Parts: sequence; C-alpha cells; structure tokens
Amino acid sequence: MSSSRRAEIAANLGAVRERIATACAAGGRDADEVTLVVVTKFFPASDVRLLAELGVTHVGENRHQEAEAKHRECADLRRPGGPDLRWHFVGGLQSNKAAAVAAYADVVHSVDRAKLVARLDAGAHDRSHPIDVLLQVSLDPPDRAGRAGADPADLPALAELVEAAGVLRLRGLMAVAPLDEDPAQAFARLSDVRRDFLVDHPSADWLSAGMSGDLEAAIHAGATHVRVGTAVLGSRPSVQ
Ligand SMILES: *Cc1c(COP(=O)(O)O)cnc(C)c1O
Repeated sequence: MSSSRRAEIAANLGAVRERIATACAAGGRDADEVTLVVVTKFFPASDVRLLAELGVTHVGENRHQEAEAKHRECADLRRPGGPDLRWHFVGGLQSNKAAAVAAYADVVHSVDRAKLVARLDAGAHDRSHPIDVLLQVSLDPPDRAGRAGADPADLPALAELVEAAGVLRLRGLMAVAPLDEDPAQAFARLSDVRRDFLVDHPSADWLSAGMSGDLEAAIHAGATHVRVGTAVLGSRPSVQ
C-alpha cells in the first residue's frame, strides 16, 4: 500500500517538475527560480514523509488545526542532519489563530490585514528563525463575497507593518487566480501589482502564484513559488 502510494506520488511529482521545467524554458527562466510547494492539506502525515523521501523540501497547509497536528507528527523530519522540510501556511488566516500558526510555520503566504501582523509577530518570538511573510493580494473584483487578500492599494501600509515587526521578514506577494477568469489575464494584473510593489521593496521578490491547474500561466507571469496539491497527491475529499 505504502509502496504503491510512494510510486504514485513519485510519478506525479516527476510530471509536475516536468511541467515546471517546460514552463520555465518557454519563458526563458531557469527552473531553479521556481520553488515547488506541495500542498498536503487533507492528506496524512505519512504522505509528507513520502514527499520528504522523494526530495520535497516545501510543504503547504491551509488549516491551522490540521497543519499543527501534521507538523507535530513530522517533528523528527526536522532533525539536524535530516531533510530540511519547510512548512508553508497558505490558507486564510483567522486572527485568533495567527499566533499559534507562527509557532510552526516557516513561511506564511496569506497575510492580508494589519491585525495579523502583530499576532504573527507575537507568536513568533520563541522561534530561532524569522518567519518569511508574503502579502496576499486579491485579484477579485472589490465587491466579491468571501474575497481573500488585500486590495493592492493597501499593500504599502501592510508592507511597512511587516518590516517594522521584529521577527517577520517581508518576502513578497501571493495570489490566487479567480475561478471565473482566464488565469493568464489575472496573473498579468498580479504582475503589474508586483512591479509597483518592487519599487519600494526590491528585495521582497517572491511571488507565490499558480496551483495544479494554472501553474504554467503563473510561471509565465513571474511566479517564484507554485503551490500544488491535486497534481501531486490526487484529488481531495470534496468536503471543504
Ligand atoms: C489547496 C490550495 C492550493 C493547491 O491547489 P491544487 O489545485 O490542489 O493544486 C494552492 N493554494 C492554496 C491557497 C490552497 O488552499
């Protein structure tokens, strides 16, 4: 069972790495410029172990309770000398969970409001390393219900807050393409937002964009981190 799961994940990983390499080549980019974050939500810690064995060093989670438990189950994977696994929190973040997320996340992709910055900063104080922070920018129309992400106009103020926080390190931007739009068009907008953002924050040059269905369009628009779940691990249970 575990060996066939391993073979399945290995084959999928190979295909995704190939897609990344092809998209990079098409855009004249080096494949090393793009980090694959495998989103492991809904999948067990045993899959995280298989991923680590297969050379994956970045895993992503989107719900605090599940992420915290899985991180704990995989604690031995972080032993000095073992694989250097980095945990990315990519999902919507509730303010009252932010401090707890800061206790285990190495990268937080979804900072979209001021309140989260202070909470993350407070939660990260026992960490020996700073937490890498991405500001999530919304590509949805302003009136969209359930819109996640900051308005592009709010990014400068948020970025200043992150830079002023002691243990957070501003790394760049993150976005999710709207479901009802051509991702290439949405990511072109993101690329414009990022260009403006880089004027004031030239070293915050990470761009987290692209998932199983649209990673090529994201890489074309400059993504440095793609967040891929389904294409590596298979389809998730539909209960969200
Ligand atoms: C689940 C998730 C992904 C991965 O999506 P797939 O379509 O399964 O690749 C990427 N980003 C975020 C924020 C997610 O919640």
